[in-house]
Amino acid sequence: MLRKMILTIFLGGISLLFYMPQSEAAESRIDGKNRFEVAVNVSKNGWSRSNTVIVTNYLAYADALSASPLAYKKDAPILLTQNNHITPITKNEINRLNAKEAVIIGGTGSISNHAENELKSMGLSVTRIDGKDRFVVAQNIAMQLSNKGKAVIAYGLNFPDALAIAPFAARNEYPILLSSNDSLPSATKNALKDKNITSTYIIGGEASVSNSVKNQLPSPIRIGGANRFEVAENVIRQLNLTTQTAFLSSGLDFADALTGSVLAAKKNAPLLLTIPARLPNETKSIIQDKTIRTFTILGGPASVNNNSTALLGKTIVLDPGHGDHDAGASANGLKEKDIVLDVGLRTRSKMINAGAKIIMTRSDDTFLALTARSTIANNSGADSFISIHSNAAESPAAHGSEVYYDTTFSGPESKRLAEEIQKELVKRLGTSDRGEKEANFHVIDKTRIPSILVELGFITNPSDASKLGSPTYRQKSADAIYYGTVNFYTK
Ligand SMILES: [Zn+2]
Repeated sequence: MLRKMILTIFLGGISLLFYMPQSEAAESRIDGKNRFEVAVNVSKNGWSRSNTVIVTNYLAYADALSASPLAYKKDAPILLTQNNHITPITKNEINRLNAKEAVIIGGTGSISNHAENELKSMGLSVTRIDGKDRFVVAQNIAMQLSNKGKAVIAYGLNFPDALAIAPFAARNEYPILLSSNDSLPSATKNALKDKNITSTYIIGGEASVSNSVKNQLPSPIRIGGANRFEVAENVIRQLNLTTQTAFLSSGLDFADALTGSVLAAKKNAPLLLTIPARLPNETKSIIQDKTIRTFTILGGPASVNNNSTALLGKTIVLDPGHGDHDAGASANGLKEKDIVLDVGLRTRSKMINAGAKIIMTRSDDTFLALTARSTIANNSGADSFISIHSNAAESPAAHGSEVYYDTTFSGPESKRLAEEIQKELVKRLGTSDRGEKEANFHVIDKTRIPSILVELGFITNPSDASKLGSPTYRQKSADAIYYGTVNFYTK
């Protein structure tokens, strides 16, 4: 049910002067059928040509963990290959880049002499950075870097922590040296000495690098976390990294994060980790706190699912109508204020799972004036505003769903958002289609971002009311608002 404000003081002309359009949140995906192709597409995205390429085995993360700073220094993409021959699409990419030099990371167990000879026969000069174990490989990579006095120490027996810090380490040319949990390998000790390292960043909690190792390091600063996602989060928090834009990669495999880390470094963007199906809370929290708005997703949907990123970087205001002493419409044993709050909260959790930041005008049974609601929307920095209501009429025969928009601000976008949500409502609720309608209701007239007002159905109609009273249909209502919003942002 709607209540128009009879008197509104028109300040639109003044507020327009102060209105800065929101920068659009955006995501792009560097996709590929497999990790070789993702690496090639990262390379195409970042380099039109390159004198050098770094080549590593597609399975052997241990060798490659420390490679990002060297790749960045040489402005070279990291490409992946099989052991016994250079993978064909990698070969094509080396040709496209017109590369003159290849640096192989790892021994012949990772990349065979035959594969090395293939690179040579392509006209490349080839060097190999090898070592009897991963600690020595990391040490030997460090020797190729300038002395900056600082180094990163990461757990060498798994990949996530080292990759979370890789763009930062790369950009600063800090070597990534490796440790086991409870003893500092002599290769790493030697590298610390030879590189004149006077301070260190330990990446990971004590389960990764113990305090007994920490005590052997020069001026250590620990960037810890309960899990890989929190470590990646804390890298950004503790180092206070620039975060207008971020790379997002699966934290369950190393390949995309490794090959993407050099491009992230070039773009001065941190790397966030996720799981395929949904964004971990740690990752969501840093995205929201730092208001990260543009994303480069590494890998295909099997690595980072579309549903988990559908509203990534978007901020949406959800406005369940009425509240407290204002019940809205009441009929058939239902109160509008309860229905719309329930649907609003269900919509919130769906949207949060898709990466959105949600601002609720109310999340419990409290009352807000209409001006308070539009003020929240206009001060929110949000991308869109959705007010949720259920309809009422004197005649119990009136039924169906409808969505309102206003053209005072963001008119075309508001209309399109209304269309997308209306389409989903009718489809999912099986209500009759009353269409999108223009009206100057306060919350959509005074709200400057794209804004709509949803009327789910008629509380006064027995058939609509039975749906509005049902948890199943309330969930379908939330789904409709969610999918309509996703369609609005992705179409
Ligand atoms: Zn209402």
